[in-house]
Amino acid sequence: MTSPADELRAATLTLRERATTALANPFNGDNTQHWSCRLRATNRTDGFPPTATITSDPDLGKSIIHGGGGRTGRGPWVFAAHGEYIALMDPALGLLFADWLDVAVDLIDDYPDLGHIHIDGEPCTDLACRTVHAALAVARQINGTETTP
Ligand SMILES: [Zn+2]
Repeated sequence: MTSPADELRAATLTLRERATTALANPFNGDNTQHWSCRLRATNRTDGFPPTATITSDPDLGKSIIHGGGGRTGRGPWVFAAHGEYIALMDPALGLLFADWLDVAVDLIDDYPDLGHIHIDGEPCTDLACRTVHAALAVARQINGTETTP
């Protein structure tokens, strides 16, 4: 059985690897650490949701979403709500999350009882316990494993 610390370490490795890979445009090396959502102009009046593209900072003009855009020929797009969320979860945030997961591993290393799953699977009121459980939930989402033991 995988220990909570091992789950956290596995998630940290995956997250750090994926975020680091996404830091740069593989064609030209442009920095893509920070992402922005650029809303697209629309003249639709039929209630179609707003759309957007994702660009990298500081190179705001370059989309990091690629494709032909289908029959519209207007280039690749996502719904604006999805674009704003994608931009929020950029590689810079991924690396910060990886650092936070490392802190949870350090907590378990310093206080091994935090690595023991409670009988009901829920954290107690202890702040460190709640922090480790929250980090484990994130790790399990990244690892694609169940969120409850
Ligand atoms: Zn506890």
